Amino acid sequence: MKRREFVAAAAAAPLMAGAANGKLAILGGEPVRKAAFPSWPVIDKTEEEGLMTVLRSKKWNRLNGNAVANWEKDYANLLGAKHVLATANGTSALFTALNAAGVGPGDEVLVPPYTFVATINVVLLNYALPVFVDSDLESFQMDARKVAGRVTDRTAAIVPVHMAGGPVDLDTILEVGRSKRVPVIEDACQAHLGEWRGRKVGTLGQAGCFSFQASKNLNSGEGGAVVTNDTAFYERSHSFHNNGRAFRTKGDGFSYYSGGANLRLTEFQGALLSAQMARVEAQAKLRDDNAKYLTSMLSKIPGIHPVKNYEGCTRSAWHLYMLRFDSQGFAGVSRDRFLKALSAEGIKASSGYSPLNKEPFLANALASKGYKRIYPEKLLREWKERNECPVNDKLCDQGVWFTQNTLLAGRSDMEQIAEAIAKVQRGAGDLRKV
Ligand SMILES: *Cc1c(COP(=O)(O)O)cnc(C)c1O
Repeated sequence: MKRREFVAAAAAAPLMAGAANGKLAILGGEPVRKAAFPSWPVIDKTEEEGLMTVLRSKKWNRLNGNAVANWEKDYANLLGAKHVLATANGTSALFTALNAAGVGPGDEVLVPPYTFVATINVVLLNYALPVFVDSDLESFQMDARKVAGRVTDRTAAIVPVHMAGGPVDLDTILEVGRSKRVPVIEDACQAHLGEWRGRKVGTLGQAGCFSFQASKNLNSGEGGAVVTNDTAFYERSHSFHNNGRAFRTKGDGFSYYSGGANLRLTEFQGALLSAQMARVEAQAKLRDDNAKYLTSMLSKIPGIHPVKNYEGCTRSAWHLYMLRFDSQGFAGVSRDRFLKALSAEGIKASSGYSPLNKEPFLANALASKGYKRIYPEKLLREWKERNECPVNDKLCDQGVWFTQNTLLAGRSDMEQIAEAIAKVQRGAGDLRKV
C-alpha cells in the first residue's frame, strides 16, 4: 500500500475494520455482526407497579381514575403545551383534531404522500378530500415550498407529518397557514420530543397529534394524544373523544355538546405512559447522538444519502433512521438485493413506504356514492392528475429505514452498521455477478 493510500485507509478506520474479510455474507463470507440490537420496549419495575396500582384501585377508566389525567399534565409540562388530551390511539387523535378543526364533507386537507396510512384515512373518515403535497427528496418531508400552491377555497386544514421525527419546515408551513387562514394540525405521531427552533414539535400548530402505539418512541401498546394551546379547541376535542359529552361532565353525564365517539385511553395505559416518561428524554438524546454519528460515517459511502434535516431542526426524534439508496453507487445493484445483502451481514433494514397517493383504496373511496354526492364531478375526475407526486415516487424507490431501537445501541454498533453498508458497497460488483 502506498503511503497516501495508507493514510486515507486509516482515516476511514471504522469503515474498514472488516476489510480483511471482504467476502459478502450473502455470498458465503463472515457477517459483520451477529449480536441483536436493543429490544423494544424498555421496561422495569416502574411499569409493573403502575399497572398494579391501577388494577388494585379498581378505577380502570379515566372518568373515575386519575392515571390518565396525571400523565396528561406531565406530558403537557414536558412539551411546554397548555393542554394534552389522551386518546385511544394516534389515528383517533388525528380524527379528533380534524373534527375540532371543523373539517368535514366538501373540504380539502393537505397531506404528504410519504406517511403512515392513518394520516390519509382520517381525512376520508371525515368525508374530506386528501390533497397531496409532493415530498422533498432530501428531507423525506412534505415539501413546504409546494404547500401554498395547493391551497384552494376548499382547504380546511394542512396536516404536515414530522416524518420519522425530523421536523417539517414549520416556518414556511405555519406562515402559509397564517396567511391563508387555514389551521395546521401537526401529525407528530413519530416525533416525540422532536424540536423546531428549540420548541417541541406538536405544540406549534393549532394542534399536534401523537401516537403511543407499540413501535413508537413513547409506548403504551396503543394510545394517542391531541396537544394544543387553544383552550376552546381542547374542550371541543375532549367532548368529541367522550361521545360528545359536554366538557366538564363527570361520569355518566348525559349533557351533550356535539357528536363524537368513545376514543378514551384507559387508566392502565395512562400508568404505562407515566412509567415510560422517566426514560423518554435520555432515550431521545441517545438516538440523536447515535444518528448524527451514523450520518457522519454513512455520508462518505457512495450511493448512500442519509436524511437531511432542515436548518430549523434543533432535534429530530428519530423514530426511524432513513436514508436514500442510489443503486448507481452500488454497481447497479437493486435496493432489494442491497437489503438482502445487508441483512446477511447482520444488519436489518426495510424499504419503507410506497406512494399513498397511488393507492387503489383512495381511488375507490373517491368513486364511492358518498364522495360523488359531495364533490363536483370535475373535481373528482381531475383529482388523480392533480395529485401526482413525481419526487415522492423517486423517494419511495430509494428509501431505506432502520427502526428507532437500532439507535439505542452504542457507538460501536453504529460503526458496525456503517461497516456493513460499506462492505456491501465494496462488494457490489460481486453481488451483481451472481
Ligand atoms: C403511527 C402513526 C399514526 C397512527 O397512530 P396509531 O397510534 O397507530 O393509530 C399516524 N400518523 C403517523 C405518521 C404514524 O406514524
